[in-house]
Amino acid sequence: MTAVPQERKLVTAIPGPKSQELQARRLGAVARGVGSVLPVFTKRLDGGILEDVDGNRLIDFGSGIAVTSVGGSAEAVVRRATAQLADFTHTCFMVTPYEGYVEVCEALAELTPGDHAKKSALFNSGAEAVENAVKIARAYTKRQAVVVFDHGYHGRTNLTMALTAKNMPYKHGFGPFAPEVYRVPVAYGYRWPTGAENCGPEAAAQAIDQITKQIGAENVAAIIIEPVLGEGGFIEPAKGFLPAIVEFANDNGIVFVADEIQSGFCRTGQWFACEDEGIVPDLITTAKGIAGGLPLAAVTGRAEIMDAAHAGGLGGTYGGNPVACAGALGSIETMKELDLNAKAKEIESLMKARLSAMQEKYEIIGDIRGRGAMIAIELVKDPASKTPNPEAAAALAKACHAEGVIVLTCGTYGNVLRFLPPLVIGEDLLNEGLDVIEAAFATV
Ligand SMILES: *Cc1c(COP(=O)(O)O)cnc(C)c1O
Repeated sequence: MTAVPQERKLVTAIPGPKSQELQARRLGAVARGVGSVLPVFTKRLDGGILEDVDGNRLIDFGSGIAVTSVGGSAEAVVRRATAQLADFTHTCFMVTPYEGYVEVCEALAELTPGDHAKKSALFNSGAEAVENAVKIARAYTKRQAVVVFDHGYHGRTNLTMALTAKNMPYKHGFGPFAPEVYRVPVAYGYRWPTGAENCGPEAAAQAIDQITKQIGAENVAAIIIEPVLGEGGFIEPAKGFLPAIVEFANDNGIVFVADEIQSGFCRTGQWFACEDEGIVPDLITTAKGIAGGLPLAAVTGRAEIMDAAHAGGLGGTYGGNPVACAGALGSIETMKELDLNAKAKEIESLMKARLSAMQEKYEIIGDIRGRGAMIAIELVKDPASKTPNPEAAAALAKACHAEGVIVLTCGTYGNVLRFLPPLVIGEDLLNEGLDVIEAAFATV
């Protein structure tokens, strides 16, 4: 079992010579389309620290994009997955089933919002879960149209590219895209023309008007939204927006799907972000944080909707792999044992206080937002114009990387710096990472 010392330590430039050597090999063998934020090759990952092949120790504010919330080698995940590996690696659940799959579906029924009867189906990736949510909603409603939102991200497969808003890098040159996908406005408070206070109800009215006039509510199978938009820039839909959309969906027999792939599993200080507004989705898609780094995804929802697909209509060779299921059970065990929802809330208050203090000094911080350990700053040229400042986001990320802090950017305009630390990170590392971010501001 790894026990990576929980301290930042730089022994070479970033990336170091061994990483550079591996990067040269990688460029010769790995397709260019698969990028890396930071070409530092990983040796060990634990708690809040990533140790690279040169012996550098970096503070992790990325969690592999909100995946290793319990750490990159959490004891319960490693223990359960290792035991499962020794017993068997695969049978295909569609050939002969195993208990772990059922246990994960039972846990999902217990943890997701609402006390109605629920069922789940397991898959390998977030995109696959979203695709299956659409299949299930279409089978249940016998309708075809799918409604998604500006700034939304749902994956890189053909259907989920169509559902995703942003062209570069996700869609460019990869069309034609799946039909019957419609995009409507989302309540982006910071950039709403009449101000954040009016944004929720106004944006909901616009979205609903577009759905009824352009598609026809009776043609819509599903409305899919991230309760906190991830890749689009950690946008929290302004208050009142989500409940209005849910009510519209309920009134019109439309399946409401919460894509909690990034925001779920304690990330925002709740098991699922939609709980903050008391929303009970018909279907919920999960992946990323679900299994402590092992590839697993799920669609969970109302039993009668989930059962609408005919027997044999859902599945996949590897979906709900037994080792990944064991990892999920270990991850959920860790989340409960360490009360990682409370931990996420502590991370939020510490980060927001530090970032607010930075905002007083650096006015290019236009907005601070997010919940739990899903926090971002939106960078602008100046607070009056709110002109996006992607150059500052890139420069800040680069400066942080050089000092051994892994941060990610996101946003439709590429001007958002996002922080997704593992929920098990120590407070000292969190503060040290923020010190590095603050010092980076002084250099840009
Ligand atoms: C990452 C993500 C996906 C896609 O998940 P993959 O596992 O990369 O296919 C879908 N929806 C949201 C909200 C995501 O953040």
